[in-house]
Amino acid sequence: MKNKTPIKEKTPTRQAKPPRAAVPAVAYAIVAKDLAAHLFQVTLTVQQPAPDGQLLALPAWIPGSYMIREFSRNIVQIRAEANGQPVALAKLDKHSWQAPPVEGPLTVQYDVYAWDLSVRAAHLDQTHGFFNGTSVFLRVAGQEEVPHVVDIVRPADEAARGWRVATALPELKAKRYGFGTYVAADYDELIDSPVEMGDFALATFTAHGVPHDVVITGRVPNLDMARLCADLKAICETQIAFFEPKTRHAPMDRYVFMTLAVGDGYGGLEHRASTALICARADLPTTAAQGKERSEGYIKFLGLCSHEYFHTWNVKRIKPAVFAPYDLQVENYTPLLWLFEGFTSYYDDLFLVRAGMIGEATYFKMLGKTVGGVLRGAGRTKQSVAESSFDAWSKYYRQDENAPNAIVSYYAKGSLVGLGLDLAIRQKSGGKRSLDDIMLALWQRYGRDFYPHGRRGVTPGEVEALFDEISGMRLKSYFDKYIRGTEDVPLAKLLAPFGVKYTDERKPAKPSLDVNIGRDGADAKLSAVHEGGAAHRAGMSAGDLLVAVDGLRVTGNPANVEALLSRYSAGDTVQVHAFRRDELMTFTVRLQGDRVPGIVLAIDSARKSALARPTMLR
Ligand SMILES: [Zn+2]
Repeated sequence: MKNKTPIKEKTPTRQAKPPRAAVPAVAYAIVAKDLAAHLFQVTLTVQQPAPDGQLLALPAWIPGSYMIREFSRNIVQIRAEANGQPVALAKLDKHSWQAPPVEGPLTVQYDVYAWDLSVRAAHLDQTHGFFNGTSVFLRVAGQEEVPHVVDIVRPADEAARGWRVATALPELKAKRYGFGTYVAADYDELIDSPVEMGDFALATFTAHGVPHDVVITGRVPNLDMARLCADLKAICETQIAFFEPKTRHAPMDRYVFMTLAVGDGYGGLEHRASTALICARADLPTTAAQGKERSEGYIKFLGLCSHEYFHTWNVKRIKPAVFAPYDLQVENYTPLLWLFEGFTSYYDDLFLVRAGMIGEATYFKMLGKTVGGVLRGAGRTKQSVAESSFDAWSKYYRQDENAPNAIVSYYAKGSLVGLGLDLAIRQKSGGKRSLDDIMLALWQRYGRDFYPHGRRGVTPGEVEALFDEISGMRLKSYFDKYIRGTEDVPLAKLLAPFGVKYTDERKPAKPSLDVNIGRDGADAKLSAVHEGGAAHRAGMSAGDLLVAVDGLRVTGNPANVEALLSRYSAGDTVQVHAFRRDELMTFTVRLQGDRVPGIVLAIDSARKSALARPTMLR
């Protein structure tokens, strides 16, 4: 039922080719200088520094990850010169430097310590190098809009002899995948184009004519690259066709999935023509299992790829107005992350179904888990997804032991807000309209022409007006209740007309402390105490180290507490001994019934009418 309400098509514009400047106004050279010490060396040349003294600054955060990270703390040494003479840089604040007025080009050289194994910063050792521009490239104030050239220099270290380079940056004087000079149209593109260097596995597929590189760094025995490419191609083509049903025109000239495979890890960060991912090597497909079903871990990885790829449209081009442009020195507040992260989370798994990666039953199993996860936390009754978006900087990204009681995830609840809205629109319009139409309208009005000149972004008021217009509904009360308010999206009621049965299978008789438990060496430590639960009522706290339940030792094995409690019923009282810091405490706990929602969603196969099916899956 998707794309049933076509909105006027405009001729799509491709991202403009960056100009090839003869003497680049802003040029960087970056070299992996010392692999063992994890140091990149950067040399920045500013041809025409500001006459009253050039201001230089490193971003304090990276778009897509809403937390002040103060990347400049990793600059180890910085010095400058002009006309062969040293120039003193004045430090203005933690991430800014001021050069005095100089004649002719200003050259600044600095080392960056790169030892953050995440997609958000930079990492360098003998196995590979990775950096985001936000970690390594000082911004030349006032010259953000000119072309930025970067020479990625081959490291001298013998360990890097076989290394290649992967980035979405266009080559200026480099072979594809080679060391050499690359160019960005402006500073924004430069820092939105992470670079991976190493001895990686590489394969390329095309999706609706656009080349997509799959780069895998890290040892992965018998990696089934052919299967990975085939599956990603299906997902990418489905998403491209979703946003441009007529032309199937992708918004970028090429795309790079750069993936670091590690023992245990998960995460991704979106960029306009690439994504940086970290995954567990076990989640990648192996040729040893050829022909077998996709594993749960592999589906999770494909879901991550689908999520970051959807961001190519939703947040990299359709953006909150406050991100256009970003101010990378301070927090940029928006109440809209439920739309940019929540709806992306709604569509990531949906596209796994639409692209044929998973079936309906698996989809609803995954959805049931998300619903249960949202209903688990009391924080959802105190913070709306709009507030959670706004406070992402100090709350969602800086979660502590009280997070389940105090905050709601704009990802998880945001995805349910999207689902609820989709169902409501589909039902109200008799299947003629859906959330898909809203995403398409957002794309056509705010996203498609964003680069290179659009730079407009969408305001919260425009979002709400567009939702009303495209849905043909008055959605103010939906926004008031579920987006600006803290009510639960009534999914049981909304799913019923589509033949999806919603049940909560938690067991009222199963005894529970209502805590999260983590392993602390050989002991079990409370990592969260849920408000209103048995442990909370008995006075227990996150951080308490469990010692015994009715005199029987609690071990660090997560199954152990459950086994001890299984001999009791809800309503029974037990003595719990626990250490708070180094003081032994005794708690009298009246066990409650299981408070973990066990939401199960299942399609009633007897339903036959057209709408009485989960139509968003097609
Ligand atoms: Zn995201």
